[in-house]
Amino acid sequence: MDKIYSELIQAKKIVIAGHIRPDGDCVGSCTALYQYLKLYKDEMGIQQIDVYLEPFGSELMILGGTDEIIHSYDSDEVYDLFISLDSGSIDRLGNAIKYFNSAKKRINIDHHISNNRFADVNHVVADASSTCEVLFDIMDENKITKEIAASLYVGIIHDTGVFKHSNTSEHTMMIAGKLISKGIDFSRLIDESFYSKTYVQNQILGRCLMESILVLDGKVVIASIDRRMLDFYQAAPSDTDGIIDQLRVTKGVEVAVFIYETKSHEYKVSLRSNGEINVSKIAVFFGGGGHIKAAGYTMIGTLHDVINNLLTHIDAQLIKQA
Ligand code: 5GP
Ligand code: MN
Repeated sequence: MDKIYSELIQAKKIVIAGHIRPDGDCVGSCTALYQYLKLYKDEMGIQQIDVYLEPFGSELMILGGTDEIIHSYDSDEVYDLFISLDSGSIDRLGNAIKYFNSAKKRINIDHHISNNRFADVNHVVADASSTCEVLFDIMDENKITKEIAASLYVGIIHDTGVFKHSNTSEHTMMIAGKLISKGIDFSRLIDESFYSKTYVQNQILGRCLMESILVLDGKVVIASIDRRMLDFYQAAPSDTDGIIDQLRVTKGVEVAVFIYETKSHEYKVSLRSNGEINVSKIAVFFGGGGHIKAAGYTMIGTLHDVINNLLTHIDAQLIKQA
């Protein structure tokens, strides 16, 4: 922690970035830290703080500071300090890698078990529910405003599936309580950022569930969506958020798989485990990463290649378990 503060004190120009296809924890942590550091700008002699993220779903635009996030990577600005949030590896930073490479110092704050400690200062808490939880623990609680609390709360609810995933701990709930005490409208934040769906999002969800397949004795459920279908609905990848959660609650299922085509012959795979299967291990094998019960990767090939290769790995773990 001292190392993080000593880097902050020395930096005049700071850049914050999160992972590609940003989720709630990524946007929540970036906006929380952005708003928090702004409070210290004068005191610490910080001249500039920029946040870079790929575009994300409009449901997260309710968070403070989201309108100031930069989505284009044209500038060749060189920063004193790069802060990576919620990214398990360098490649997850996408186009922001160029600012990482040119920055004088780099900090990596994260909670992925697969994090490969790619920065100069690495603060990785693998048993934390979310990057927002890690951030709360290094922030001065008294300085946390209602807006910062909202960002942290949204990050936590997204990564815990509203406090239901196994990554939710007593400590997570204690933090949530402290954030609530800042006066946030938590019901609205949960509904608007997590549960609310557009009509098109519901249509895509319905189609994916209807066309899903149940394999390996009903222990694995797989749903996929190709580019043609995404284009037909004029949907963005973030419009598929939550489909994996619905697949996961299928009775008897140990692993839920959701696959979407990112470009021709390239697929993004999301994995969720209900039991003993370690999906992070499988994702890491295919060049991705994540957590034991929630992980993902990108693979090139046909949809059949993706499914065949993946099922071999799931089956191998199921056999070992039996
Ligand atoms: P999701 O399936 O929701 O995209 O991701 C689940 C978890 O796995 C998240 O913690 C996410 O950061 C991680 N993850 C998903 N895709 C990738 C990937 O391609 N590479 C890495 N390193 N992690 C991923
Ligand atoms: Mn996260």
